[in-house]
Amino acid sequence: PGKDCVKVAVRVRPFNKREKDAGSRCVISVVSNIITIQDPRSVQVPRSFCFDYAYWSHSGFTRDCSGLYVPEEPGGRYADQDSVFQDLGKGILENALQGYNATLLAYGQTGSGKSYSMVGYGPNKGLVPTLCDRLFQAIRANQDSRQCQVFFSMLEIYNEQVVDLLSRGSRAPGGLRVREEQQRSFYVEGLRRVPCDSAPQVEQLMEQGTRARTTAATHMNANSSRSHMLIILQLKQIFSKESITKQSNINLVDLAGSERQRASGSEADRLKEGTAINLSLTTLGHVISALADVAAGKKVVHIPYRDSVLTKLLQSALGGNSRTVMIAALSPADICYEESMSTLRYADRAKRIQNRPVVNESPTE
Ligand code: ADP
Ligand code: MG
Repeated sequence: PGKDCVKVAVRVRPFNKREKDAGSRCVISVVSNIITIQDPRSVQVPRSFCFDYAYWSHSGFTRDCSGLYVPEEPGGRYADQDSVFQDLGKGILENALQGYNATLLAYGQTGSGKSYSMVGYGPNKGLVPTLCDRLFQAIRANQDSRQCQVFFSMLEIYNEQVVDLLSRGSRAPGGLRVREEQQRSFYVEGLRRVPCDSAPQVEQLMEQGTRARTTAATHMNANSSRSHMLIILQLKQIFSKESITKQSNINLVDLAGSERQRASGSEADRLKEGTAINLSLTTLGHVISALADVAAGKKVVHIPYRDSVLTKLLQSALGGNSRTVMIAALSPADICYEESMSTLRYADRAKRIQNRPVVNESPTE
């Protein structure tokens, strides 16, 4: 199978209220697909990074009457939700329809815009709802040639425990088990898979899952920015004339905030037991670094997929059978310089990873 690099996009959001009140300066600029960041306390030359896409969503926007963020003038440089979908979401959809697995990850510190890009707020729909909308459109348009089934699952990983966000009341102590099937392929045992046939149905499930996530966080006296949210869309296409079935998994991941985390409450207890606060995020970083070394031709003995729940579930998305896209979200403000720099370094390693995606097809049984 052909090699395929992880595609990486970066996106800079507008100032938030806190940054405006603090009189923040913008330390980031974007020209074409190059992003440049200036250390506010140094006169050194700024650092530049090149990615597949760099989105300027910091200025040059206005809200239309429905609350939708749009460029101030037609063709203006503000990157709105639609243009991000055209670049990132459409490709994922087309890949999935061809039978490839696809993964979309949002990375960045809390408040940087991960959920805005992934899920969106109000009329500013993010990648996931738009992707689902277009998926069902495509299914309807192709119904003469194939019969399609879509299954939707939504879970969260908090403190290395998996919680099903769609099955109320079944919050098993210790969370759901992650099991290995065949070799190197992990799944969550007992995770609810809801058959779906319309975009509004998916949106309703997403709302249900988001509510469950917030409730869980409140119960645990925790902050949902410390958990990872994972949506799994499974698409099965049966081509009757050719007697072929194609299956693709789409993983949509809103990662926990990447800022360095301090223990609190029950987490402090867990720390005593020797579990890192966010083992999954730390391990993801190690896996990405190891895979970047592999791509650079360095000798790598071990890739630590098995060290955390998240990296087990994303194993095929990282260096395996998936087309993978990462969107790194950034605050433009001087006060966030250190975190933004660390996000850019992380994204810079991720873009080196090479996957080997294949079409998942088999004769219809
Ligand atoms: P995160 O999920 O990374 O914690 P959010 O996505 O919730 O952060 O974003 C924080 C705030 O910034 C939200 O109020 C959101 O509406 C706003 N925001 C983020 N990205 C953008 C953007 N590209 N354009 C306009 N507002 C944005
Ligand atoms: Mg969020």
